[in-house]
Amino acid sequence: MVFVSVAIDLALDWLFTYSVPAECTGKLRVGQLLRVSFSRREVRGFALRVWTETEEEAAAAAAGRSYAIKPILGIADEAPFFSAAVLQLVKWIAAYTCSPIETCLKAAVPAAVLKPNARPRELLFVEPALSPERVALTKRQQELYDNVARVGGGWMQQLCREFKTTPASLRALAEKGCVTVAVRAKRRDPLAGRAVMPTAPLELNALQRAALETISVADRPVLLHGVTGSGKTEIYLQAIARELEQGRGAIVLVPEIALTPQTVRRFAGRFGDRVAVLHSALSDGERYDEWHRIRTGRARVVVGPRSAVFAPVENLGLVVVDEEHDGSYKQDETPRYNARDVAVMRGRFERCKVVLGSATPSLESWLNAKKGKYALASVPERVAGRSLPEVHLLDLAEETAAYGHVPIFSKFLLDAIAERLKRGEQTILFLNRRGYARICECKECGHAIACPDCSTSYTYHQADDCLRCHVCGGWTRVPTRCPACGAREFSFVGIGTQRAEAALLKCMPHARVLRMDADSTSRKHSHDDILSQFRARKADVLLGTQMIAKGLDFPNVTLVGVLNADASLNMPDFRASERTYQLLAQVSGRAGRAEKPGEVFIQTSQPDAPAVAAAARSDYAGFADAELAGREEDFLPPYSKLALAHFKSQSDEQARGWCALYAAALEKWPGLSVGEPMPSPLERAEGWFRHQLLLRAPKMATIAEAWKWIVAERPAPSGLRVALDVDAISFT
Ligand code: ADP
Ligand code: ZN
Repeated sequence: MVFVSVAIDLALDWLFTYSVPAECTGKLRVGQLLRVSFSRREVRGFALRVWTETEEEAAAAAAGRSYAIKPILGIADEAPFFSAAVLQLVKWIAAYTCSPIETCLKAAVPAAVLKPNARPRELLFVEPALSPERVALTKRQQELYDNVARVGGGWMQQLCREFKTTPASLRALAEKGCVTVAVRAKRRDPLAGRAVMPTAPLELNALQRAALETISVADRPVLLHGVTGSGKTEIYLQAIARELEQGRGAIVLVPEIALTPQTVRRFAGRFGDRVAVLHSALSDGERYDEWHRIRTGRARVVVGPRSAVFAPVENLGLVVVDEEHDGSYKQDETPRYNARDVAVMRGRFERCKVVLGSATPSLESWLNAKKGKYALASVPERVAGRSLPEVHLLDLAEETAAYGHVPIFSKFLLDAIAERLKRGEQTILFLNRRGYARICECKECGHAIACPDCSTSYTYHQADDCLRCHVCGGWTRVPTRCPACGAREFSFVGIGTQRAEAALLKCMPHARVLRMDADSTSRKHSHDDILSQFRARKADVLLGTQMIAKGLDFPNVTLVGVLNADASLNMPDFRASERTYQLLAQVSGRAGRAEKPGEVFIQTSQPDAPAVAAAARSDYAGFADAELAGREEDFLPPYSKLALAHFKSQSDEQARGWCALYAAALEKWPGLSVGEPMPSPLERAEGWFRHQLLLRAPKMATIAEAWKWIVAERPAPSGLRVALDVDAISFT
């Protein structure tokens, strides 16, 4: 008798056993989606293990059980959703992140694909008949037939539009046997209507060729460390082309893909229809179609954000992780995997190449390269003899003394922008805070208006004259009286993108400024539209948040300004310095990418901070090595493994109590270093009280074992939510 263990999406971390009726056994495969009955309902689940028992074995097992094993109802889809390698990957994630296997399986397939009513879009397609009947046609019918025959057929709707006719007329032609009308699946193409220019491979320079060679021969993951503008993308493209020639496929992970339409287009431009794009801004239909194009092998190159690491590419030859240091590769809900690490594991399971590329590698990857776990390919120079931009530090402390307040724009930066306007060149300005001003403060008592559900101040948004909470999205009007002292006047302190835009326009009324932040980009394609406008030089200045920091390649940009580097330096996070270096280097990298040299101004009150000083010298290795020494001393990653346990409850009491209880219990675990239980920096979010506990150990397995023990020993009572964030990168 054949049995199968099935993962049903209940997040119980439990597999259910079903028997397989004889008519299904031949077709059953691991990784398939099955229909089974559960609690008298029909549900679907993935087949994870199939095995055979003799009649006697089965009977003996049944005797020891208090319940009867039910047969599966059927196979929902014969093509498996998971290959053996991806299944192995998912199991690894479940173990590594201490997450239920069902949740991990679910994370590996787009929801749009699993919806019970998901299917291809089917439309009517009209084609000229192979051997058209010789029948009498009216003049108009003959004309229509000739047109259809000339274009070789098309979608009913399109033909009607193109030839100004009706479906009835086309059907009349079909009845006469001149054309056929049939239902066909029409691809929902995420790049439809977006201009994609075909490109040919560029001639690589010597540094690029050496890097490509390292990738081709490496028996380990390769860290491709190339400064901004060194032509890393071209290296990826050519490495992928080599795989395609060998009949193998490739996956390219890019950060927050909706923000990097240029990158997507570069891949589509080189590989055309063989590229599938997977990202969150797609419609369900587009995602369904793209995923099936991958599964059926019609698309061989997948470009997408972190979840694309699971794409069902068969005979995978290469996984590229572009901007491997990027925080968006870490999923911040269960399973809390980092796609960069998952990519490395997939490479191991599939025996394929892995390339991690960045101008500013994570210290984790840098250390792996130093230890020889990864091969290192360095491209220390920009292409075509272009130089890295010259970086100037502007000391905000000095400026403040001169002006009497912290200026939004130093005079030097304003002069530089004015100079670009005169020369017809473009400027990118970076400020990591959206909205008009940071907070709304009572002029009398200094009370800051804060969200009642989250322990954060509201941010003032000028466009709709309201206060918004950037944690929960809630909003309110600016109050008429201070809730603390009753005074009627407020000041708006701190600077957001909206206010910086207003200030810039005040100084330079003629400048054409585009703003790019979460508020200006909520529509579909709005990122793409803003960037296209900027590329077409319809604006002089692009002012934006984090989302303009990476990946953009605008040849006419010769100036980059960082309005305030302090915000990032002062984050309460042991990676603040690393992040600041990455941010400054990436933003600076947007300047002077073509023939014209670039210049960068960084406004900061801490020009001597190592991250700032090193960024000004473009000295990644110097910065990274010094920073690593400090991490080793403090037993911090990459020299230790770290996980952050979160405790959330509507009752502060409960969250605090359980955090302390776990801390005390875990204290005794051998090899585990347990931090102080404490309130999270963001103490309250969306009405939940939050506490946290930091766990460290030389190996993640130690943390995972201890965690499994404690959650089994002291399961969370109702009202409390406990979660473990392995390799946490956010400590708020
Ligand atoms: P990176 O990804 O390292 O920032 P890109 O791949 O975007 O760099 O390359 C920067 C620019 O240089 C792009 O416009 C690209 O087309 C161009 N480029 C890349 N390689 C070459 C080459 N070998 N010769 C000429 N131009 C190149
Ligand atoms: Zn809130």
